[in-house]
Amino acid sequence: MTTEQPLVLVTGGAGFIAGHVIAALLEKGYRVRTTARSLDREVQVREQLARLGADPGDRLELVVADLLDDDGWDAAVRGADHVLHVASPVLPGHVENEDDVIVPAREGTLRVLRAAHEAGVKRVVLTSAFHAIGFGWGRTEHTFTDDDWSPLDGPGMDAYGRSKVLAERAAWDFARESGLELVAVNPVAVLGPVTSSSVTGGNAIVRSILSGQVDSYPNLWIPIVDVRDVAAAHVLAMTAPQAAGQRFLVGSGDGLTLEAIGAVLRARLGDAASRVTTRTTPSEVIRAAAESNPAMRGLADDIDIVKQIDASKIRRVLGWHARPIEDTVVDAATSMLDLGLITPAGR
Ligand code: NAP
Repeated sequence: MTTEQPLVLVTGGAGFIAGHVIAALLEKGYRVRTTARSLDREVQVREQLARLGADPGDRLELVVADLLDDDGWDAAVRGADHVLHVASPVLPGHVENEDDVIVPAREGTLRVLRAAHEAGVKRVVLTSAFHAIGFGWGRTEHTFTDDDWSPLDGPGMDAYGRSKVLAERAAWDFARESGLELVAVNPVAVLGPVTSSSVTGGNAIVRSILSGQVDSYPNLWIPIVDVRDVAAAHVLAMTAPQAAGQRFLVGSGDGLTLEAIGAVLRARLGDAASRVTTRTTPSEVIRAAAESNPAMRGLADDIDIVKQIDASKIRRVLGWHARPIEDTVVDAATSMLDLGLITPAGR
């Protein structure tokens, strides 16, 4: 590895967001060290970067470290100027054992922060989530901002939401006690160009709609931000002096309903969107079904809710800006078509 440029440690380099973050750092000339649970991941990390047009050469190295284990973290942070702690289990919904999500999130964050502090790292940016801000509140007219915290046991909170609250709270406590400089980045649902066969979260919703698996839309709304804009937010959070000690809710625009996502796909993708439905399911039908079918209850709780979100602080303080989320939806869909992850109609 060359040594002239500042070195940034990005945890979990094979992940969706981390891949885009690494590409953004390489583009700006940084050297990047990343972690994975196995060295085998290096090929995947480099392939994902190639799909984003990045050619890291010897400006990228991969080291092995697991959030559940102390081993490897001292070596991972050694010589790093900044740490972007992105890795965490992303398992929304029901899980058998909540600790499978919460322990790596919280204890793993503390492992990374402790190692970073001991190594004299300038600043750590933690990838938290809107799940740590605006979940578990039930139906509310409240406008969510960077100052809000999700209640741990509020309606609809799951293990993943709790993992993000507990990890971020632990990080702020550690920063307060140790003096480590911390910034938290809290994105809403992150969509955009997919670089591997692992398709999760909002991108999985786009895939289901485009492939025709969704045959009728419930009135479900999701707040959206583009993964490339989230990567840019990480870089700003890492470098802007005024970001120190701040928490940034990262969202763009008003979000989209599933029906609106379908309309964007139909309007912009031509024949490839011919399986995209125009049908909707009335909310009363979903609520009635949920009375007898427990599997429908989560959906029944989530329909007809549009959360008010004020994500203006990151624009104001860091000068961050975001592309239109319609472009994000189209780019997510196109990337999945290109990778053969969706069989387009007619093929
Ligand atoms: P992802 O693609 O599933 O990436 C998660 C990463 O965490 C993977 O690299 C995974 O490593 C790593 N990881 C999980 N458990 C680990 C462990 N025990 N030890 C070491 N690494 C572990 O998810 P993503 O969507 O990019 O999410 C990245 C971060 O963004 C997470 O902190 C998530 O909470 C946050 N976030 C995501 C969204 C979203 O909509 N996607 C929204 C807001 C915030 P392996 O590759 O080895 O599995």
